Amino acid sequence: MTLYRDKAVVLRTYDLREADRIIVMMTENHGKVRAVANGVRKMSSRFGARLEPLSHVDILISTGKNLDTVSQVELVTNAKNLYSDLDRLTMGLAMLEAVDQLGMENEPTEHLYKMLVGALQWLAENESSLVLAAFYLKLLVAEGVGAHVDSCVGCGAPGDQLVAFDVFRGGAQCRECRSGATVSVEAIGIVQNIVGGQLNLALSLKPSAATREVAALATKCMEHHLERRLKSVAVFESPER
Ligand SMILES: [Zn+2]
Repeated sequence: MTLYRDKAVVLRTYDLREADRIIVMMTENHGKVRAVANGVRKMSSRFGARLEPLSHVDILISTGKNLDTVSQVELVTNAKNLYSDLDRLTMGLAMLEAVDQLGMENEPTEHLYKMLVGALQWLAENESSLVLAAFYLKLLVAEGVGAHVDSCVGCGAPGDQLVAFDVFRGGAQCRECRSGATVSVEAIGIVQNIVGGQLNLALSLKPSAATREVAALATKCMEHHLERRLKSVAVFESPER
């Protein structure tokens, strides 16, 4: 048995046996980790409340032959304020889902951990409905498939000529090249701010038709990326090939 300490955000949990629970988390240094928390479903458990999805914890894990075990948990930040607000909770859980799908078990992905911790902080500090969209768009940049919005993805026409966005081509398009859905100049501008390092500007915007457009666009881009990734993993693991 070896022990290691790490920081982690709890992604999801599921029940095991009578009183135990499996905790799936994104750690800072060990990638996605799955470990058993023994007895957490008993009323007397000290761990239980600290190991809810969205909790940010400092954790001591002992590695076993089959399953790792949670030995100690300290809260870094609890997610109480997120659980009391349905919009924030929904966005937070969507962030966990994306990170869960992008993370690999026991393969360090420090950027996923860091981006998730950062985004949960935006979520705690901002009213903006764009927090989730911003997280998706930045995550896609980190994955190497960021939305191309500075110029037309087809011909390179400048930003002021962009009128559409094609999710399959991963970018904005001019009138000549358009194959994707119509997108407003305002929405393109917001996406440019988010991926171009002006996040605070984007998060300070009041809800509008353009912010809703960006939210929908970011979700579509993330879904497209996850789907394509899932397919490539399926092909890779298929025994016929
Ligand atoms: Zn073009």
